[in-house]
Amino acid sequence: MTNNLFADIILPLAVRGRFTYRIPDNIEAEIRPGVIVKVQFGGRKLYSGIVCRVHDDQPDFKNVKPVIKVISGTPLINESQLKLWQWISDYYLCSEGEVMKAAMPNEMSLTNFKPRLESFIKLSRRFTEGELNEILDKLKKAPRQQEILLAYIRLTGYSKETEILSVAKSLVLSESHSSAGTLDALIDKGLLATISLPVSRISENDSFGKPIKPLSEAQSEAFKSIKSQFAEKDIVLLHGVTSSGKTEIYIHLIEEQLKLGKQVLYMLPEIALTTQIILRLKRHFGPVTGVYHSRFSDPEKVEIWKRVAENDPLNGYRLILGVRSSLFLPFSDLGLIIVDEEHDGSYKQHDPAPRYHARDSAIILAAIHKAKTILGSASPSVESYNNAVNGKYGLAELKERFGLIKLPSIVLANTREAYRKKLMVSHFTPELLQAMDEALAKEEQIILFQNRRGFSPYIECSECGWIPACIQCAVNLTYHKGIGKLVCHYCGYMTDMPSKCGNCHSTGMVTRGFGTEKIEDEIKIVFPAARITRMDQDTTRNKNSFNKLIRAFEERRIDILIGTQMISKGLDFENLTVVGILNADNLLNYPDFRAHERSFQLMEQVSGRAGRRQKQGKVVIQTSDPANKIIRLVLRHDYVNMFKMQSEERKTFNYPPFCRLVKISIKHKDRVQLNYYSDILGRELREIFGKRVLGPESPVISQVQLWYIKTILIKIEKEKPPARAKQLIIEAIDRLEKEKGASTLKIAIDVDPY
Ligand code: ADP
Ligand code: ZN
Ligand code: ZN
Repeated sequence: MTNNLFADIILPLAVRGRFTYRIPDNIEAEIRPGVIVKVQFGGRKLYSGIVCRVHDDQPDFKNVKPVIKVISGTPLINESQLKLWQWISDYYLCSEGEVMKAAMPNEMSLTNFKPRLESFIKLSRRFTEGELNEILDKLKKAPRQQEILLAYIRLTGYSKETEILSVAKSLVLSESHSSAGTLDALIDKGLLATISLPVSRISENDSFGKPIKPLSEAQSEAFKSIKSQFAEKDIVLLHGVTSSGKTEIYIHLIEEQLKLGKQVLYMLPEIALTTQIILRLKRHFGPVTGVYHSRFSDPEKVEIWKRVAENDPLNGYRLILGVRSSLFLPFSDLGLIIVDEEHDGSYKQHDPAPRYHARDSAIILAAIHKAKTILGSASPSVESYNNAVNGKYGLAELKERFGLIKLPSIVLANTREAYRKKLMVSHFTPELLQAMDEALAKEEQIILFQNRRGFSPYIECSECGWIPACIQCAVNLTYHKGIGKLVCHYCGYMTDMPSKCGNCHSTGMVTRGFGTEKIEDEIKIVFPAARITRMDQDTTRNKNSFNKLIRAFEERRIDILIGTQMISKGLDFENLTVVGILNADNLLNYPDFRAHERSFQLMEQVSGRAGRRQKQGKVVIQTSDPANKIIRLVLRHDYVNMFKMQSEERKTFNYPPFCRLVKISIKHKDRVQLNYYSDILGRELREIFGKRVLGPESPVISQVQLWYIKTILIKIEKEKPPARAKQLIIEAIDRLEKEKGASTLKIAIDVDPY
């Protein structure tokens, strides 16, 4: 034994716990928390892991393996990040390795980061003005070459005093309308030279430095209220109706933090939203503003990561706008976290682990940095509003729209009656069509919202009722007309649209229900002169598709935009006056205790897109059940009564926020085996938790990708800390996993499922 130092290391594995390795003498000096090292785990496999603690506590097992080598000597992960990872793994019952995998760009690209190189042009040596004029003169016979040299001089402002400046080759070529061949000729003549220089992968060509807008009276009050509440509370909920100017308030709060030299994280639930807000932020805060989301390539992510880590006043990002994973960037000194649209379900990661809620984790991250958190929404989650009502969070309110524009008026259109009276034009009620007609006549814009993509959610044989289903999942296939295929929205399985019934061979296959694609088709027939576009998962697969669609709508090159929940939140369009919700029923009739809350939020959000600038907007909600209590509340924009109603219901039936939920999903490819094992776990858990256990039961989608699924739900009292209960759940699962044959199961734990 030469050395008594050990390192606890996080490995990218689903196994809970940290792993202890011996530190060999020769690399001892380099090993610190946050450093990446190579170690062996299990048989022969080598892994890169992150050192999180160095100590001299001899582990209680023999053959402690050595750290093989140090991959990155400078720590890539800071202490605050390690604390957040640890909290997430404890709270959401996953391994720190799983958090690590979600939290970091590919470790190789992080350690082997190479800046992007681009070709630049410069003069081969210093020329006097006389020499240059002579050269230009000689080049008269080669006007294209002369043009390039002139372009170079123009772009660099060449003068004999300054150093020899370089300018991007692409810029010289476009400026002089020349080809690379012509440029090569000048290089061959020894006049110009090329060099490679590192450039940013992130484009930033926006102007900035615009002064921030003064707040209205109502906004100033909310702003002051937030600040005074921050004196006592770490978290304030900003409940402001749609278009009340919450974003402007955030901008004022950000400005203060940046002036203090602090970092700010601004979170949004959806990539589509980052497009507009980033422009609004960059206008004021310029290049310290960075955006982060999953559409970036690994090298781009690494560059953003580094610029956050550097936190230097010149090149660093101090304001990050991002989706949930931006939580994991290497912040060193956060002053404020903004969680906008805090109620949004996309903040919760479903699969794979870590199944974390980014809003709740953000609150922890803020606490780690001793920073403040602001949660913003026009229709807060029942959980957050409850915390505000209880005084756990502060509450600030904005009850009016900016400019005192009225909230949109809402019209209910009864589809059942319209069908009966034969007044429907395909899927559109007379009320909706009239509102659209009027808007189009005034050259105003329209959004149509339908929460299903594809052409029709299923197709059916008109003779025998046969419906094609996925071969791997217990769901019907959705018809996508554009590609002429039936698609499974759960596993991606695709097959050709059948010409005949698979059961009775009749040729009478008909489409049922409607998705965004069908709406697009039909609305084109109803309004042939209108410019119509669709925005959903299928039309936004390319990296820049959001930007293009949003810009086109802003520039009024689109009259009618049809979309899924992607278009429902946050977007701010000047000329949009009419919103149509095509089928409110399928939002409301979903078997989940949050379905009513969610449909209220969705309808309130999408309505909120209408009439944000000059005049009141109009919303038409199509429903077969206009008496529905949630719809009645949306009609009056009555959030508080929605909250009270939901709160009562959840208290009565014991659901969050009055208890905590832990959901266990058990999967097996064999239905009988699944029933057998899930029953064992159900019995075990019932012995511990009694009536708090619900299930095992089959979820709505009972099979995905050939795996049958059962779920068990456990309700844990809110009064006690959940750690003990969680420990018991883990132990029960560990026991099940040791049963004979149980290794063929897949078990997932979801804490606070959404
Ligand atoms: P919210 O975030 O509450 O939906 P926004 O911040 O997007 O609202 O504000 C709605 C619109 O009103 C935006 O176009 C915004 O630029 C404008 N606006 C809000 N506050 C102000 C202000 N104080 N001065 C000028 N324009 C404002
Ligand atoms: Zn048939
Ligand atoms: Zn499938």
